[in-house]
Amino acid sequence: LTSGPKSPGLHVIHIAAEMAPVAKVGGLGDVISGLGKALQKRGHLVEIILPKYDCMEYDRISDLKAIDLVVESYFEGKLYKNKIWTGVVEGLPVYFIEPLHPAKFFWRGEYYGEHDDFKRFSFFSRAALELLLQTGKRPDIIHCHDWQTAFIAPLYWDIYNPKGLNSARICFTCHNFEYQGTAPASELAACGLNVHQLNRPDRMQDNSAHDRVNPVKGAVVFSNIVTTVSPTYAGEVRTAEGGKGLHSTLVSHSKKFIGILNGIDGGAWNPSTDSLLAVQYSSNDLQGKAQNKTAIRRQLGLSTAKLRQPLVGCITRLVPQKGVHLIRHAIYRTLELGGQFVLLGSSPVPHIQQEFEGIANNLRDSEHARLILKYDEALSHSIYAASDMFIIPSIFEPCGLTQMIAMRYGSVPIVRKTGGLNDSVFDVDDDAIPLQYRNGFTFLDPNEQAFNAALERAFEHYWNDVKGWEDLVRKIMEMDFSWETSAAQYEDLYSKSVARARAAAASN
Ligand code: ADP
Repeated sequence: LTSGPKSPGLHVIHIAAEMAPVAKVGGLGDVISGLGKALQKRGHLVEIILPKYDCMEYDRISDLKAIDLVVESYFEGKLYKNKIWTGVVEGLPVYFIEPLHPAKFFWRGEYYGEHDDFKRFSFFSRAALELLLQTGKRPDIIHCHDWQTAFIAPLYWDIYNPKGLNSARICFTCHNFEYQGTAPASELAACGLNVHQLNRPDRMQDNSAHDRVNPVKGAVVFSNIVTTVSPTYAGEVRTAEGGKGLHSTLVSHSKKFIGILNGIDGGAWNPSTDSLLAVQYSSNDLQGKAQNKTAIRRQLGLSTAKLRQPLVGCITRLVPQKGVHLIRHAIYRTLELGGQFVLLGSSPVPHIQQEFEGIANNLRDSEHARLILKYDEALSHSIYAASDMFIIPSIFEPCGLTQMIAMRYGSVPIVRKTGGLNDSVFDVDDDAIPLQYRNGFTFLDPNEQAFNAALERAFEHYWNDVKGWEDLVRKIMEMDFSWETSAAQYEDLYSKSVARARAAAASN
């Protein structure tokens, strides 16, 4: 690992709770490695700081070793030691922080959902800044993500900047405003922040409960750059309906707030090199895609009698945001229309998981539908490759990666027009959109009728226009959803912010 910028590029540190493929729950994990790699490729020195979870995919980390440095960080009035590990993930240097705290914060067999998440991640945020201070790093940008590392912004300005870790601008990306990590204000004191100073309406106080603090709000207020993951979502969260209580804060900080569409990692998601597929294929060889369809139908015990029977895929966390009622409906409607359906998903919400287990059980003997209710990276690749269509009927969707991955694998997306879906999927039948952008089927109202109309149009195209469908599949496989454009936008934001800070320092 390097200790400072050697190239003319910027030194960027991402501090996050997830990173694909070692510690991934959803899109955040993909973004950390995808954006990190793209920035590295553009000549920047990118380093990542993660918690050292017990449940990580350790075989995806190379050169993992504990370094000869124990970082002591403050929490609840005491100093705790942290063991620091380094390793390389997807070519990116990563620091893993292992707190030697009796509560074993990251040794719980899961990433999120513990009763003391606020404590665990405020501890981690402080330890991450302590690591930077003690190793003498002078990053240009510290980029934190979501509420788990939102504490970085106030900690940096209130505590670490005065201690001498003062080279950086702070960038905060909110990947989903649904998760704000609010807690009773008094809990903020544990990581050394001043509750009295921060529990104010213009700082970290939650907009709807005056005795609670809101880490996401704190990061919006205290960061130099605030982003979210698509332009449409950036507009939606500025409204009372979409802002989950933070719209007024985002409106007042509008100048530094922007939506940048995520990309996908073209190395990790590439059907022509993907070793997890039965057969690799490209847009010139749709035969290979058909072979993947046959393979998965066999693997899951679905009928292979008719090749041209549309296979509809869905890969998702089963949470209300994703439109679970429409997903359930889609399974039955697909069967009525004569298609096949494969769902790969799991739910952190027990009643939703149970409901889908019930559906899976009812369809156990079906030759046309299979529900696999777990997280399975390898199977996800096979489903993207095998399916003809891919549904994402989200109620809201900050960016969404599955529509982009699906397209890369030639699976035509059927999506609700919201957030990042609205910025990446354009209806095949919409004459108002230039032909070259049209790549899927969209609907607006979050109800069964609207969804049916889109699904039925997709089926009609599939059945009635074989050549047109193949052209569409080839076209979406060739569309550019790489990180290139988005990474260039982040680079621009970083550089401008750094330049502004330098100009201000020079004039003082
Ligand atoms: P979110 O971050 O809200 O979960 P995104 O669309 O941004 O949604 O990212 C979802 C990512 O997680 C995709 O890479 C998708 O393939 C993956 N994923 C979701 N559910 C599963 C699952 N059950 N098994 C494997 N991968 C999954």
